Amino acid sequence: MPRQKLIAGNWKMNGLAADLEFLDAIGPAAAAADAEVLICPPATLLAEAARRAGAHGIMVGGQDCHAAVSGAHTGDISAAMLRDAGASHVIVGHSERRCDHGENDGIVRDKAVAALEAGLVPVICVGETQQEREAGRQEAVIAAQLAGSLPENRGQRELVIAYEPVWAIGTGLTAEPEDVQAMHAFIRSRLPDPASTRILYGGSVKPDNASTLLGLPDVDGALVGGASLKADDFIPIIQAGC
Ligand code: PEP
Repeated sequence: MPRQKLIAGNWKMNGLAADLEFLDAIGPAAAAADAEVLICPPATLLAEAARRAGAHGIMVGGQDCHAAVSGAHTGDISAAMLRDAGASHVIVGHSERRCDHGENDGIVRDKAVAALEAGLVPVICVGETQQEREAGRQEAVIAAQLAGSLPENRGQRELVIAYEPVWAIGTGLTAEPEDVQAMHAFIRSRLPDPASTRILYGGSVKPDNASTLLGLPDVDGALVGGASLKADDFIPIIQAGC
């Protein structure tokens, strides 16, 4: 069965209540699309976003979760809390978390396990730095991140991989389509269930490059940062996923 495309927006630390009008603006395009649409707003907006998104068949997700179910972790949010607020997915291991918060593969794996146990789909991010690519180490780096970050024994429960070269995130630089396809094929070759697992590309996806990237055989969707903040940018990306 062909893998349905998933177009996911990561709002990062952007968005106030008034910005949820975005969901109504993209609603008709999302409803008309063959692709699934997921928006990951900041946690403060999650419950209201879930309420508004549901009317359009749009899914909402968290941007991170703690690995523990509950406890003395001031400022953190558990996977169960995200689910309770209406999330279906959660991003784990985004390079900004790996870099800014020192999250290593083991932490990412624990978060992914917590997400699965709470009934969420983890979107597990991997990606090499520019230095690692220039040294020709990108496959070794990604292989190690996959080996360390993916939960073992997840049974039939779904997870999504997002390949996001660190040097392409928020920089306007996009990986060459042949490099994206080669890396996605490599990632697929390392997965226990290659045929059914969706692998998203992230890194400066924009309206003008979305069709090319989403047309690659092993690209099953996009994780979009900057271009998920404006409906005029995000709608053509959703439409490119059809
Ligand atoms: C991201 O936040 O995951 C991302 C890929 O950002 P951008 O699209 O802005 O590069």
